[in-house]
Amino acid sequence: MAKYTPMIQQYLQVKAEYQDAFLFFRLGDFYEMFFDDAIRASQELEITLTSRDGGGEERIPMCGVPYHSSPNYIEQLIDKGYKVAICEQTEDPKQAKGVVRREVVQLVTPGTVMEGKGLSDKENNYIATLTHLDDTTYGLAYCDLSTGESKVTQVSNVFTDVLNELATIGAKEMVIDPDFSVEGQRLLSARGNVTLSFEKNDSLTEKAHELLSGVEQENLQKTVSRLLNYLYRTQQRSLDHLQPVELYEVYQFMKMDYYSKRNLELTETIRSKGKKGSLLWLLDETMTAMGGRLLKQWIDRPLINRTEIEKRHLIVELFKESFFEREDIRERLKEVYDLERLSGRVAFGNVNARDLIQLKKSLEQIPALKEVILGLGNDLSDHLAEKMDPCEELTSVLEEALVENPPLSIKEGNLIRDGFNNELDQYRDASRNGKTWIAQLEKDERERTGIRSLKVGYNRVFGYYIEVTKANLHHLEEGRYDRKQTLTNAERFITPELKEKEALILQAEEKSVDLEYELFLGIREKVKAYIPRLQLLAKTVSEIDVLQCFATVSEKRHYTQPLFNEERRIVIKDGRHPVVEKVMDRQEYVPNDCYMDKEREILLITGPNMSGKSTFMRQLALTSILAQIGCYVPASEANLPIFDQVFTRIGAADDLISGQSTFMVEMLEAKNAITNASTESLILFDEIGRGTSTYDGMALAQAIIEYIHENIGAKTLFSTHYHELTALEEQLQMVKNVHVSAMEHNGKLVFLHKVKEGAADKSYGIHVAELAELPAKLINRANEILNELEKKGEKSTEKQTPVKKQDDSLAQLSFFSEEIKEKTSNEEKVSTKEKRIMDEIKNLDILEMTPMEALNVLYKLQKKMKG
Ligand code: ADP
Repeated sequence: MAKYTPMIQQYLQVKAEYQDAFLFFRLGDFYEMFFDDAIRASQELEITLTSRDGGGEERIPMCGVPYHSSPNYIEQLIDKGYKVAICEQTEDPKQAKGVVRREVVQLVTPGTVMEGKGLSDKENNYIATLTHLDDTTYGLAYCDLSTGESKVTQVSNVFTDVLNELATIGAKEMVIDPDFSVEGQRLLSARGNVTLSFEKNDSLTEKAHELLSGVEQENLQKTVSRLLNYLYRTQQRSLDHLQPVELYEVYQFMKMDYYSKRNLELTETIRSKGKKGSLLWLLDETMTAMGGRLLKQWIDRPLINRTEIEKRHLIVELFKESFFEREDIRERLKEVYDLERLSGRVAFGNVNARDLIQLKKSLEQIPALKEVILGLGNDLSDHLAEKMDPCEELTSVLEEALVENPPLSIKEGNLIRDGFNNELDQYRDASRNGKTWIAQLEKDERERTGIRSLKVGYNRVFGYYIEVTKANLHHLEEGRYDRKQTLTNAERFITPELKEKEALILQAEEKSVDLEYELFLGIREKVKAYIPRLQLLAKTVSEIDVLQCFATVSEKRHYTQPLFNEERRIVIKDGRHPVVEKVMDRQEYVPNDCYMDKEREILLITGPNMSGKSTFMRQLALTSILAQIGCYVPASEANLPIFDQVFTRIGAADDLISGQSTFMVEMLEAKNAITNASTESLILFDEIGRGTSTYDGMALAQAIIEYIHENIGAKTLFSTHYHELTALEEQLQMVKNVHVSAMEHNGKLVFLHKVKEGAADKSYGIHVAELAELPAKLINRANEILNELEKKGEKSTEKQTPVKKQDDSLAQLSFFSEEIKEKTSNEEKVSTKEKRIMDEIKNLDILEMTPMEALNVLYKLQKKMKG
């Protein structure tokens, strides 16, 4: 090392401590990077790579970013999952003997960002830790540093509970013991976007002790301590906004594994991984960022305690019924700023006066918000209102201290109101008087010299000056003015008395700017003392926001309040899939009923591909989840059991991350459901067994149904394209067949999306292939093969055709009316007869008809048409 210059040696020493981070090494107005860091950073940030002489034989690669634009570069690196160590000069370069002392003052990591692009308003940003408690149990703690919220729980099974919790939390960074098993580390990093960090120290500091007052178990305290020690070590500041750590148990909430959450697209869609198209997207009518984050937390953790759920329903009902009050609440909430993150930034020491003005405006909404909610006159809502603390004294302090529109910078003055501080007022008077004097000077000088264009101006370099154009110079009195600067057309002068005033003004201004900064810091300290109260307020406000959001969505989308029963009965009338319905427009969506009870534990769903089987299944799960997070549900009537867990195996969810085959994932998900479900659970199995050969798959599917029937008794929806399975209804008492209807018309397939009792008549696979526009030649050949197979008797699915004939009458009626509609839409050619028939058709609800009724109506209409 000796061959390098002292500064590079210093760099290398610091870098050795931060191997896994980019080291931003402060040199004057720049952060510089050297060696490999420089090469990688220049690629990642697309900045120029240069080199410098470092005393060694070869030049050292180097690149740098200006200090003032560094936040942007840091954000980019964090966004890519890197860490950045910020190394500052910690002594005045003028005082330094030899190399200036430098130290890392903060390590910025994906899990510890406090502002900027790395933080999304409506999402928490968690950093988590996982520690072994004993052979089979783990302590899991996580913290959102930007809001100060921390939680801890104990989990037992790595492959289910641990991974599920981690998936729910979606932590960006995991802090673990350096001795954590290599295999464990691999598993954690395989879970996608998480940066691993290490912390050995799990000893309990005094501060940790304080935050952990609600957690008694010693080893869980250690879990949290490791995380806190990491945060303090990397952030090197007080972190006064950390809230007491909350202990929870995973079984306090409806359990859903990683796959189920993903399959149901609760917070993001499978395809785009974005929020759009998810349940969260549909529901998000929150008005505040805090409410948005809480909504996501609630969706991730539906409740199972009936009283708690019903409390939420009650307030939703109250809000829903009180339209004007709700609008008022929404308007008020719109003005409430992110109090949680603001508190975090106050503690961190990076709020400006604009933030505090927003805080003031937020607090000003609270009294009115309280009043509206108190006006609803209900115990539960009263309780919510009373929990809101408007922190009035703080509002007044901010009101008295800060101007309405302060600048972004807190170091350039113009923040503090006149009258707030005597000394400041004096400086300001001095500077204002001086300025008046100068304005007067301009007048006086114009009069004295007779030069109308004479100006008094100011610039940073020369200060105040008197400017006279060259043409007018001869009017000036000799010896009175000192020439200061020559421009093309004018000369600038000063006078001794102008200089004197200037000194007074500038001094006063400098002093007042300094004083304003000091006063601002004082105000910030005052706000700091309010952090716990602001955080409590934030909690209540976000709760109110989510509840009003539920009320708003429920009204807008015509949802109903679900009721619950203890008999494990499901009664859903006119149920809809909330997201599909929104996307496709309510008019077109075909509502469906769902009825299940002790005699109907398992519904076996048949019907062609694309008919709506999996939509029907998801609809039930989403309805239950909506009910259990406290929202209303998309149905005209709903009475539900409270589900302890929901399992799904839907669609082809290849697990690309862990590199398992589709069929393997399918079996793992099936196993997971079967081993963990209870009678209180809901299982959705979509086309299980499809990923292998026919007999293989069918055998597995049947065995799974039998197993659930005999051993679990969970409510199960099982869709299948194996028609052979519909015979199970005869053998297994609690299995019932339903089918999603479709019809053939002129050899084409029409979907009705209506779920009906009984098994479907056939599987229509070739029709779907035709819809997908496979070549006609191929389709014809498929039909030939099918015929041959059917002749050979190998295909047994055609044996049952109980509903086919009848479905045809519905199909014909439906087509007859479509034809008429089409004709009548073309105005010119319409006969009165057709118009009359059209009117009759308008009033028909074909989907609600029995096939016999349809046949009668069709017959009547056809007669009218002819006669
Ligand atoms: P399957 O599981 O039977 O293959 P899906 O449930 O995937 O079918 O449904 C296919 C498409 O049919 C859906 O994307 C949706 O657009 C439409 N669909 C499903 N159910 C309904 C319904 N009840 N009303 C209207 N359209 C529906």
